[in-house]
Amino acid sequence: MHNFNYSRAASVADAAAKLKASEDPKLLAGGMTLLPTLKNRLAQPSDLIDLAKIDALRGVSVEGKEVVVKAMTQHAVVAASDDARKAIPALAVLAGGIGDPAVRHRGTAGGSIANSDPAADYPAAVLGLDAVVETNERKIAADDFFRGLFETALNPGEIITAVRFKVPDAAHYLKFRHPASGYAVVGVMVARYGSKVRVAVTGAGPCAFRVKEMEAALEKSFAPASVANIKIPAEGLLGDIHCSAEYRAHLVNVYARRCVEALAK
Ligand SMILES: Cc1cc2nc3c(=O)[nH]c(=O)nc-3n(C[C@H](O)[C@H](O)[C@H](O)COP(=O)(O)OP(=O)(O)OC[C@H]3O[C@@H](n4cnc5c(N)ncnc54)[C@H](O)[C@@H]3O)c2cc1C
Repeated sequence: MHNFNYSRAASVADAAAKLKASEDPKLLAGGMTLLPTLKNRLAQPSDLIDLAKIDALRGVSVEGKEVVVKAMTQHAVVAASDDARKAIPALAVLAGGIGDPAVRHRGTAGGSIANSDPAADYPAAVLGLDAVVETNERKIAADDFFRGLFETALNPGEIITAVRFKVPDAAHYLKFRHPASGYAVVGVMVARYGSKVRVAVTGAGPCAFRVKEMEAALEKSFAPASVANIKIPAEGLLGDIHCSAEYRAHLVNVYARRCVEALAK
């Protein structure tokens, strides 16, 4: 690990000021991705600015028709939150299925979303539940947030403060779980909002994406048969040691259908 300066921010404004004052800073949330990255010398920030002591960045609440998850809320807290479990059970299930207990007690919603790992679970919830990502500078719609492999719409020095998930009529999340890490080899969230349907996929491509063809078919008829024959092109999907792009394309179809089966019961 290379040397760096470490400081704790007392507030979001303090973190923003520290980011501005540093040469090549990085925010530190739970460190679940950042610390291994530093240990492997894949990043060499001049400063780590720790968000851990900012109480205003923690908590889950229901505000009107939204579940608000503050950026530094750990996955275990979301999984156990009565508010999340009542308003959007699929969100609590998704958070409770991340990694292992150690990861769930350190990893945060903001860190996961900022990192935009192609196999992370949260991006499927952000897109599927039509969320708004709030930062210290602006509000970013889910559809504009994920840009590519580990790439988001965040500007350098921009801090995620919260994510607002719209409460659906019903939603379901399923993933083909990597047996070692728990990451999504493929994960699919299907959510219904009145006559509108959102189908969001993680794990399959460079970043999370929606499957508009499935959404349109489900809006016509919300039944497993509507998606059963919609094949996702393998082109552009990820192929690696875990499985091929063709297999991931197949899994998107299987998991979308299973989500609809669960919701149509
Ligand atoms: C063994 C293991 C298994 C895992 N399994 C899964 C899994 O099954 N599913 C899954 O979804 N994830 C999984 N993860 C990832 C984990 O859930 C964390 O959410 C993820 O690693 C991010 O970690 P963190 O929140 O501690 O953020 P950090 O590692 O501290 O930060 C990650 C990045 O986000 C930036 N950042 C952090 N907070 C903010 C903010 N508020 N605003 C702007 N930028 C910010 C940091 O600067 C850094 O670049 C796993 C991780 C490990 C180590």
